[in-house]
Amino acid sequence: MSQESPDWVTRGLPHIWQPYTQMKTAAKPLAAARAKGSRIVLADGRELIDGIASWWTACHGYNHPHIREAVVAQLDLMPHVMFGGLVHEPALTLARRLAALLPDPLERVFFSDSGSVAIEVAMKMAVQFWLNRGEAGRTRFISFKGGYHGDTFAAMAVCDPEEGMHSLFKGVMPEQIIAELPVDDARAAALEAVLARHAHEAAAILVEPLAQGAGGMLFHDTAVLRALRGAADRHGLLLIFDEIFTGFGRTGALFACEEAGVTPDILTLSKALTGGTMGLAATIASTRVFEGFLSDDPRRALMHGPTFMANPLACAAANASLDLFEREPRLKQVARIAAALEAGLEPCRDLPRVRDVRVKGAIGVVELERIADLNDLKRRFVEAGVFVRPFGNVVYLTPAFTIGEADLASLTGAIVRVLKEMA
Ligand code: PLP
Repeated sequence: MSQESPDWVTRGLPHIWQPYTQMKTAAKPLAAARAKGSRIVLADGRELIDGIASWWTACHGYNHPHIREAVVAQLDLMPHVMFGGLVHEPALTLARRLAALLPDPLERVFFSDSGSVAIEVAMKMAVQFWLNRGEAGRTRFISFKGGYHGDTFAAMAVCDPEEGMHSLFKGVMPEQIIAELPVDDARAAALEAVLARHAHEAAAILVEPLAQGAGGMLFHDTAVLRALRGAADRHGLLLIFDEIFTGFGRTGALFACEEAGVTPDILTLSKALTGGTMGLAATIASTRVFEGFLSDDPRRALMHGPTFMANPLACAAANASLDLFEREPRLKQVARIAAALEAGLEPCRDLPRVRDVRVKGAIGVVELERIADLNDLKRRFVEAGVFVRPFGNVVYLTPAFTIGEADLASLTGAIVRVLKEMA
């Protein structure tokens, strides 16, 4: 039942600036009071079924007791300590476990606190890898249309510059080489031509493997990644996989690199790393990349160190999240969700102005010709009792892997109903 908004909402809202939001015209944000499993309880008493797991982070659902207990235990020992000159058990255990889960040469973990920073670190690592070998001209990156890698300056520059949300900054950011993914022979030939022209000035190829997320929820198959590995090797470039969206089961395997059988030189993780409980990210380098920094010259060290890197609470949460992947049938749950999304979203195919319906793992997408009034669409979803956050021309679901069948059916049902109403 809906109640009045509490005082902290009415008094605090005039002082908040929200992300990706036109503050003049946007509807008032929803105030969340608590969350459990796949439900968000609002401050006014309403309860919503969550369709996107807080930007696809909360893979075990909200407030999982195992993660909570691990964080509370760590809080008693040491909430934070700097990582320069010091190490601690949660970070070392997590680094060891990540290295064991990822393909072999990926063995060195550099922690940071957000996905964008993990990308900045990956890019800096790649450029310095070549600098340390005396190749100063390799400063650019080859990335892909439909890609999204974050909001900081270097990360913005490798997003899609035309369609992407940072197009306003074109010309301000360092210009990168944005190609088309080699999804067919013509595009493979086009990429080859781009590489022939630019490989000498490039440090790496950077891609979101198997699923491009915030750039449009676009999928490609494993052959594309094998082609990129081949191209990187032929042209002497590093290959970076941004698994911030795909990592930890979202597309069906624990990591997209594992599904593709392709090992990049550098891989980034964040989002579901802590089960969505805290900001933590990791940039994981291969032995070869790491060894490129070993020298008697201190200037060849990686000069990067976020203050809160490897925060012990976040690392404890991440270790607890990995326990859950070991103990509970998460990947089976992803397969179950994939089947339910396929069936549940199928009726959208018959609606007018629906361009495509696609599913990969626990990602369900309805692509429309356009969304005329995003505020109105979001309001209708809330009235239907669900929280989803369409963007561009895309309505998508990335639920918690633990979501129950009834809640999942309510989510897909709400999407079909609301889109039918708007048709
Ligand atoms: N890379 C990918 C693939 C992402 O999906 C995101 C966030 O959506 C980022 C990078 C940036 O992460 P963050 O928002 O934590 O900076």
